[in-house]
Amino acid sequence: MNNVLVFIEGEEGKITEDSKNIVKDSKKLADLLGGSLIGAAYSEAISQEELTQAAIDVFWELPFTLDDDPCGQLAGSEIGCLVGEAKLGLLLSANNLLGETILAIAAASSDGVFFHSCRQISIDAGDFKIHQSTYNGKVDEVRILPKHSNVAFATIIPSGTGRNPYFEKKNPVTVQKVNPLVNGMVPKIMETFKAKAENIDLTEAEVVVAMGDGIANEKGLKLVSQFANLIGATLGGSRIVVDNGFLPHNKLIGLTGNVVAPRLYIGVGVSGAPHHLIGIKESDVIVGINSDPNAPLLKVADLAIIGDAFEILPALIEGLGGDQVV
Ligand SMILES: Cc1cc2nc3c(=O)[nH]c(=O)nc-3n(C[C@H](O)[C@H](O)[C@H](O)COP(=O)(O)OP(=O)(O)OC[C@H]3O[C@@H](n4cnc5c(N)ncnc54)[C@H](O)[C@@H]3O)c2cc1C
Repeated sequence: MNNVLVFIEGEEGKITEDSKNIVKDSKKLADLLGGSLIGAAYSEAISQEELTQAAIDVFWELPFTLDDDPCGQLAGSEIGCLVGEAKLGLLLSANNLLGETILAIAAASSDGVFFHSCRQISIDAGDFKIHQSTYNGKVDEVRILPKHSNVAFATIIPSGTGRNPYFEKKNPVTVQKVNPLVNGMVPKIMETFKAKAENIDLTEAEVVVAMGDGIANEKGLKLVSQFANLIGATLGGSRIVVDNGFLPHNKLIGLTGNVVAPRLYIGVGVSGAPHHLIGIKESDVIVGINSDPNAPLLKVADLAIIGDAFEILPALIEGLGGDQVV
């Protein structure tokens, strides 16, 4: 029961960034448990070349493609059938719809315990210590699952695990083609609608624009909202902006709000106080727009744009083909 399985997602043959992060954490947990790390993915999802880089011991190629099983039913049942035989004690995936469906079905079919939206899993005196985000991210709870009481299944929020890929390769990966154990009708996806960036949870957003006190007035809100809209970003703000009612509390970024981990964060008129920086440090690329060249945000930024945001934002909006609304 010491082996760990990680469900890996691919995009054009490459392991997704979110899955890389879960592989990283799974490897650490497998090492702590003294077990092997098994990676499982849909057939054709991950290229051979990419696999040789992954820090997994064994790779299970599931007997169907994502097109055969777009909602994860078959993968969940298949993995559930193999839990005992593969001596799995812990199964992990990224915290998204597919990962949740697969692990929930696998847990139900193997009498396991399922935890979604986990920020971190650690091992404390042999017990699983599960740090879980509940009530839509408003409350965090730590749960203990006693050693060997049940197999644990958990989906991990990538921002809770760090964005740096961990691919320390020690041994070659053993590839095993899994025999089909399950079949049946699977739902088909008929239509897909892209969520509006403004409706995406800040912790999940790929691109985030943060409004700071430097532009905290009606004009600033209009400009920054339009800019965020044009680049498909989710809008958040600093404490001052939220406290002054320009954005609702669930849009707060920082120590007392959301910890974001986007590919791109753009802070506009945000000074970069430590309480705010804690909430953005997992961002891949940080851009700061600020009139003060000494603003702390610009010191940690990958790109610093120094100047008046009331001039810079209209220029960016014009460059992006947007109408001038103010
Ligand atoms: C216990 C505690 C918890 C906190 N938690 C959080 C938290 O979770 N999140 C958070 O954000 N804060 C938090 N804070 C508050 C935090 O310490 C800062 O006060 C806050 O982040 C500052 O917000 P700001 O950067 O928008 O404003 P300011 O610090 O006022 O910065 C405004 C910036 O705008 C620039 N500026 C001004 N005019 C322009 C212009 N025309 N164009 C471009 N730039 C301009 C200025 O140079 C300045 O750098 C917390 C504080 C405490 C005590």
